[in-house]
Amino acid sequence: ARRKIVAGNWKMNKTPSEAVALVEELKPLVASDDVDVVFCVPAIDIIPVAEAVKGTNIQVGAENMYFEEKGAYTGEISPAMLVDAGVKYVVLGHSERREYFAETNETVNKKVLKAFEHGITPIMCCGETLEQREQGVTMDFIRQQVKVGLQNVTADQAKTMVIAYEPIWAIGTGKTATTEQAQEVCSGIRACIAEVYDEATAEAIRIQYGGSVNATTAPELFAQPDIDGGLVGGAALKPDFGKIVNYK
Ligand code: 13P
Repeated sequence: ARRKIVAGNWKMNKTPSEAVALVEELKPLVASDDVDVVFCVPAIDIIPVAEAVKGTNIQVGAENMYFEEKGAYTGEISPAMLVDAGVKYVVLGHSERREYFAETNETVNKKVLKAFEHGITPIMCCGETLEQREQGVTMDFIRQQVKVGLQNVTADQAKTMVIAYEPIWAIGTGKTATTEQAQEVCSGIRACIAEVYDEATAEAIRIQYGGSVNATTAPELFAQPDIDGGLVGGAALKPDFGKIVNYK
């Protein structure tokens, strides 16, 4: 059986000192033996957060990363920098990065490949707009995001990664997708992985749901056969995150 993974995406919240205070507050609440727990934090918070989580079950993730090794890319953060700072996971292709920072399926793919090269586990995001859902093209759109995002990724690599399904209309809106909607798309993503690779890869890959996950909606969502945990925004900044991790 796949191990659940619950990740917080802090987005552009918390200064370094606020970040450490939040870790100290959440530490005892997110202790768990059966769920992987990841805090994906702003780049400048990574080093103090990595220090603050030492000796706990919390792993540190980044919210983005550049796809080149090093050099004249002012303002960017390289994979080696993340690794050296203690990062194990990186969120790639979040809808906010696609919308405001011109990320495309192609740049996401470059980043996914680069993350694997450096031993960082990608949490690759996908998800449709409300308009796409209403037009009935949700699965076509997501299949394209997933297929292009995974170009040249080997089956062995894909088995270790995480895909986060985040319907854009559910992000930060308080409108969680229904359990049925979330399960349907996550199952569709798994079928897409089986087509691109094979059944074994589809069975191994972990697929999260994200979009207004809270302590009330998490238990039913995470109980679905194809939902292996969540990528949590707003509720990851509150004690509620402990309830989400310990959803059972
Ligand atoms: P919210 O949980 O705040 O809706 O954010 C979801 C998200 O975008 C996580 O990456």
